[in-house]
Amino acid sequence: MANAEIYTKWRDQQGGNRGSGWSGPHGSASASGAEGIVELNQHAERLAWKAAWPNAIRTFIRTSIKQFPNQPLQIKIWVDQQVCPSCQKWMVIDVISHLKLLKQEFPTLKVELYAEVLFARKTEKVRVQQSTVWPVTVGNQSTYQNLPEIYN
Ligand SMILES: [Zn+2]
Repeated sequence: MANAEIYTKWRDQQGGNRGSGWSGPHGSASASGAEGIVELNQHAERLAWKAAWPNAIRTFIRTSIKQFPNQPLQIKIWVDQQVCPSCQKWMVIDVISHLKLLKQEFPTLKVELYAEVLFARKTEKVRVQQSTVWPVTVGNQSTYQNLPEIYN
């Protein structure tokens, strides 16, 4: 059983673990069943993202961007178990390409994507980029090069 939630804030807004200080959850989901049994595209982080993107995230931006001009938007995928290799790749490729679409409506907007994992009662957060080195408490594989060629 894994749970995931999607949060947003502007860079200078103070934010702590999970939803503390963040807006949201804009989407949340649970995946029941053990990893390996749940279909990859039904993992909690994917379902939570599906609930948040694009409408809830766009609404957050539209309603708050004027108060935070020129600040990067921070988006956080919170999950309560280690991110599997397929979802690591999905974050780097699919979620980031979704976020690039925001340029159409907000041409100067900069977006930072984060993954935050609650693991053994400890929370750890990383910025998600192709160059990310993932701590084992956050992601199953440490580098992009180790992620599966084919993922779904
Ligand atoms: Zn996964």
